[in-house]
Amino acid sequence: MYNEKVMEAFKNPKNVGEIENYDGLGKVGNASCGDIMQITLKIENDVIVDAKFKTFGCAAAIATSSTATQMVIGMTIDEALKLTNKKVVEELEGLPPQKIHCSVLAEEAIKAAIEDYQNRKAGKVTPDKIDMV
Ligand SMILES: [Zn+2]
Repeated sequence: MYNEKVMEAFKNPKNVGEIENYDGLGKVGNASCGDIMQITLKIENDVIVDAKFKTFGCAAAIATSSTATQMVIGMTIDEALKLTNKKVVEELEGLPPQKIHCSVLAEEAIKAAIEDYQNRKAGKVTPDKIDMV
């Protein structure tokens, strides 16, 4: 069902975990396969210097979040906001059509984490962390 690149990213995911003293945290979920994802970002001068994810999700969710976190490290927040799930899927050389929606999670979680970072900078209240099983 999955290509080799997706399987590799699923079996050996990068950037798993949570950043201590993160600057932005995003958490999202989707109802269709019950995936939950949390992404934490370390941001210095509006450049993402580290990204980590935790997911309670399917293989596609794990593979795309691993790849997406690798892609955003080194990007400015403006560049990262332009990262779409389509680009992540291209990087993985495709996903089965019924799993495309899982790749949207990584994009949404990154955007939510950047929004959280911007809210923190503006002194607004931020969401709580997910309690992962
Ligand atoms: Zn999924």
